[in-house]
Amino acid sequence: MFSMLDIDPHIEEILENSLDREISSQEAELLMETNGNEFQALILTADTLRDNIMGDVVTFIQNWNINFTDICTGNCGFCAFKKNPNDKNSYFLDIDDIVKRAIEAESKGAIEICIQGGLHPNIDLFFYEEILLRVKEELPHIHLHAFSPMEVFYGASKSDLSIKDAITILKNAGLGSMPGTAAEILNDKVRSIICPNKLTTDQWIDLIETAHKKGIPTTSTMMYGHVENVKHRVEHLEILRNIQKRTGGFTEFVPLTFMHLNAPIFKKGIARPGTTGFEDMKLYAVARLMFRDLIKNIQVSWVKLGFKFAQLCLTAGANDLGGTLGEENISRSAGAKYGVYTPPSNLKRLIKDMGRLPAERDTLYQNIKLL
Ligand code: SF4
Repeated sequence: MFSMLDIDPHIEEILENSLDREISSQEAELLMETNGNEFQALILTADTLRDNIMGDVVTFIQNWNINFTDICTGNCGFCAFKKNPNDKNSYFLDIDDIVKRAIEAESKGAIEICIQGGLHPNIDLFFYEEILLRVKEELPHIHLHAFSPMEVFYGASKSDLSIKDAITILKNAGLGSMPGTAAEILNDKVRSIICPNKLTTDQWIDLIETAHKKGIPTTSTMMYGHVENVKHRVEHLEILRNIQKRTGGFTEFVPLTFMHLNAPIFKKGIARPGTTGFEDMKLYAVARLMFRDLIKNIQVSWVKLGFKFAQLCLTAGANDLGGTLGEENISRSAGAKYGVYTPPSNLKRLIKDMGRLPAERDTLYQNIKLL
């Protein structure tokens, strides 16, 4: 397969085998360290596997984000979005305002509304329930993709509910799916540095598996490029792979590269300044080799990577370009240059220019419309 490239025979063997079987964690760690010809061969293999499994279609969704408050009692060291309750510039949308924005989003073509916010001291699980009920009352057909595992964990504990009961209440109120955020890096040593007050690795796994068992699918994410090493990244991917083997509830995997510029842990000198392009591409490629068709959809985030590099990462095993994203606030606070709504025509152009097939999808990848 790599006759034009002079590459290490052991890496070559791993890559050739990876077209027929999943790679082990040890093999993934080796591949994450490749450079030069081995790097080129890795990217080519991931792209070939993507083609074998998903074909040439590259999807995206017309969606809208509503971040209803930036007031948060959390203290994640990578977060430039949160404000303290007394901060003059903080905001807290009331539910009427959230509903108004959702109606506006739908009128502009959004079929999914993603609702998330900070851990406001005055809210609980029943506040989340009311948001869902009120939006669904006005827009019964809209897909509500809402509340991170941390928000559900927080809301449940504020309302004295088990995770199971909290998820049942949200599902009955119209929750369609949940973002698999708050995962960051699923290793408690890393979490104690970057997000000491967030739910633990085991709590995250338990919450996600409970959601899947209750019929609420989630995305899966990883936020990397701060204090973790390659072993932690692979350990994280292995955790996601094992969850998917047990539940089948992940719709996609979304790597989120650390935005360092305004992050407290970077300003304090604890974190490195994000990833390099090579690291990002290797992460996409290794994820494809580990997940194969188990988590079929691998998404590049143009908000984090920018349009040009997101396009390039679609050649490293990915098959989805995310959403049109009206109102993305969190990445912009963190220092991303992108994150304002982009029209479908822009995403379509990027995909077509690669010789791939642009298509719009829904949240669960069930309705794929070629453009
Ligand atoms: S990442 Fe979320 S929970 Fe953590 S400080 Fe920021 S808003 Fe709060």
